[in-house]
Amino acid sequence: MSEAKRIDGKAFAENLRKQVAVNVKKIKTEHSITPGLAVILVGDDPASQVYVRNKGVQTKECGMNSFEFKMPDTVSEDELLAKVEALNADALVHGILVQLPLPDHIDEARVINAINPDKDVDGFHVINSGRLATGQKSMVPCTPAGCVMLVKNALGDDLSGLRAVVVGRSNIVGKPVAQLLLNEHCTVTIAHSRTKDLAEECRRADILVAAVGRPQMILGDWVKPGACVIDVGINRIAAPERGEGKMRLVGDVDYDSAAQVAGSITPVPGGVGPMTIAVLLAATVTACCRIEGIPEP
Ligand code: NDP
Repeated sequence: MSEAKRIDGKAFAENLRKQVAVNVKKIKTEHSITPGLAVILVGDDPASQVYVRNKGVQTKECGMNSFEFKMPDTVSEDELLAKVEALNADALVHGILVQLPLPDHIDEARVINAINPDKDVDGFHVINSGRLATGQKSMVPCTPAGCVMLVKNALGDDLSGLRAVVVGRSNIVGKPVAQLLLNEHCTVTIAHSRTKDLAEECRRADILVAAVGRPQMILGDWVKPGACVIDVGINRIAAPERGEGKMRLVGDVDYDSAAQVAGSITPVPGGVGPMTIAVLLAATVTACCRIEGIPEP
């Protein structure tokens, strides 16, 4: 079998951002409204700082307002909740994102559930999970939404009847991806650390989504010939071939062996990763339109 089609998430995300910029311009021209995204960062975790900075830059590039709030990791839960409340009440803010993880002394669920669900662009609020689970209009978690866009990019819009296996059952990736695929009429299996004979489960999948956090765990002989493989994992491993102490990023799928069998596959980096911020920007436009009562693009 020939090598799988490489699903180019970077290019897809770039196009999505361009589309968001077009939509923002239209909203500004026709309604004199500028969509605004507020991001709260607690503490000084270097990875989170880079991520938040990129969000801010890309938000502005799309023509939207970007509001960034940095709080020390000593901030109290009440102070953080007060900030969320202020942003809920701020008419210039259409999307609110609290960068996770939060320090241990703060109840993450309490903070997320304090966000106005209509401004919850990350889609983690329990009301939005409930809406998603019951097939109602909701804000949808960005990485899972990006995964489904890439699946459709590879297989076309009609996923009805396809067998999907999602490995991982976290609230932020595994469960919402499974829910979205179910809403697309796939037959969905969610696998996790207690799943018996995981390889055999994976081999049944027309769509295989890996969201595990274990480097290169899913091997080529776990993949059904022709399957669409979406690798959400981002793992840093030693890369002595690049020099002493060097690291490189790999996914949860062993790309080289899986690409020999799959029909299409996302690389890491350059697959699902770049989709998250692009989908976040699109979600901010959606939230803006719903809040302002103007047609969604
Ligand atoms: P979690 O650690 O929250 O969840 C991992 C899941 O994998 C759990 O459900 C766990 O099962 C399951 N699991 C762990 N080990 C095994 C195993 N040996 N066999 C089968 N299942 C197993 O991770 P996340 O969902 O937050 O993230 C998953 C990956 O996706 C990570 O690499 C993360 O970095 C990446 N990620 C990438 C994003 C992006 O591209 N922008 C965004 C978010 C995450 P159990 O529930 O039984 O413990």
